[in-house]
Amino acid sequence: MKKQSLPKLNYEFSDLSPYIDEETMKIHYAKHHGGYVSKLNGLLGENPELKEGSLEELLRDTSKLKESIRTKLINFGGGHLNHELFWANLTPDRQELEEFRLSKEIQSEFSSISALKDKFKNSALGLFGSGWTWLVVRDERLVIMNTSNQDSPIISGDIPLLGIDLWEHAYYLNYKNDRGKYIDSWWNVVNWSNVNSIYLNSLS
Ligand code: MN
Repeated sequence: MKKQSLPKLNYEFSDLSPYIDEETMKIHYAKHHGGYVSKLNGLLGENPELKEGSLEELLRDTSKLKESIRTKLINFGGGHLNHELFWANLTPDRQELEEFRLSKEIQSEFSSISALKDKFKNSALGLFGSGWTWLVVRDERLVIMNTSNQDSPIISGDIPLLGIDLWEHAYYLNYKNDRGKYIDSWWNVVNWSNVNSIYLNSLS
């Protein structure tokens, strides 16, 4: 992998308010995601063997790595990729999933968009501790899954389309312990156009 950096966002920290507040965005991006990026670059600096292959390739097969490197790569590298996708899948411009091809696949897999949202929320509420809930492509089908900590779905060979950060740092300032309310609000700022593009790319 190459030296990593924080992605440029297509919106301002304040643009997602009231669904995600400015202060949460600022701290989340600069301190939390920024922390993963700098720790990942530190790991890269100490372990030249990580220069071979992309970060995604390294995470898809960690079996050749030393135990001490593997855990850090999963935590920092997963943290970096998970947040990159999280930011890219947010937008202040409200989008309706119905407008995109992905909605047909969701209707056939989950019966309706609201059934998908219910199932996704139940999965997220059932996650103990910190982690993520995901909509992924697995064997060409849509699947909802949870991961703990910063584990990326690509570790298990799944293709992440959409993920919600369920660490308290993602919502506690605005929603306190009400994870359910945070999830309900978050749907309002999902960038379905981007999610749909990732889905279409996964088909080829
Ligand atoms: Mn986070």
